[in-house]
Amino acid sequence: MNCDKCKENAIYQDPNLCKKHFIEYFEQKTINTIKKFGMIKNKQEKICVAASGGKDSVALLFVLHKKGFNVEALAIDEGIKGYRDRSLEFLQEFCKKHKINLKIKSYKKEIGKTIDQLSKKYSPACNVCGTFRRYLLDQHSKEYKKIATGHNLDDEAQAVMMNILKAQTSLFARQGPMTKDIDGFTQKIKPFYFIKEKEIMTYAFLLGLNIDFEECPYAPLSFRSYVRDWINKEEKENQGTKLNIVTHYLKLREDMQDNIQKIETKENKFSKVVKDALQPIKKCHECGSPCSGLICKACKLKEEINA
Ligand code: SF4
Repeated sequence: MNCDKCKENAIYQDPNLCKKHFIEYFEQKTINTIKKFGMIKNKQEKICVAASGGKDSVALLFVLHKKGFNVEALAIDEGIKGYRDRSLEFLQEFCKKHKINLKIKSYKKEIGKTIDQLSKKYSPACNVCGTFRRYLLDQHSKEYKKIATGHNLDDEAQAVMMNILKAQTSLFARQGPMTKDIDGFTQKIKPFYFIKEKEIMTYAFLLGLNIDFEECPYAPLSFRSYVRDWINKEEKENQGTKLNIVTHYLKLREDMQDNIQKIETKENKFSKVVKDALQPIKKCHECGSPCSGLICKACKLKEEINA
């Protein structure tokens, strides 16, 4: 099959593109998302990239750095032997080669225990792991205005479905390509919001980034893994499923926000759920991280662990 843009052989399908045109397509798609949502308005602005050494965050660091954005990396070492130690070793080499500042913060030092230790008490480990990762990223990105994450289209479609299946209305209402610009909080941006995981893997492979594609040993036990397999099966049978989930979610979110005034005047169970979900984000009284109540989940968990 030929490339849609030239006569070279296509190395990627749908769209059919050769190596050169796939790289161009990938980078342009990232830039288009940044522009569409006004994620980064000035290339001099220092952007913190949440990096793990995995394909998504390394590809994000690479493309932003290549396009002239002012990036620094912040990594969280959860303490997963044989997995995170390897990816962080790769990340350190990558950042050194590309002259990108890198900070690494560990669960062991900041929480007191590694995920390998916590997994003996908390199963699936992903629930506590995700809470502490968000907490440490918040705590250590305060000096930046924005933090970019490598969340891709697959991740976002999974998150929409997970929040629906678990009736997590508040989280559902707050999803999206970027958080609001609120004083005192680092804004989160997702430049790969419309990029498929398969596209990131292809980009990383074509660029010879030599990333280890191995999965975290705790991932198969997670609810996300179940939802991921289900959506992948749907995508195989009905191409475009992932994009449909995300674009319909964005439309729904817009409608919810437009209708908040009307909702405020109604008093029924559903309007209360939506109203609560759209409440402005608060600051945790203990650590200052974004939170919907008085104390955030990470601070409560830390207390439980160290009791
Ligand atoms: Fe943590 Fe789960 Fe991700 Fe592994 S898969 S790094 S345990 S959230």
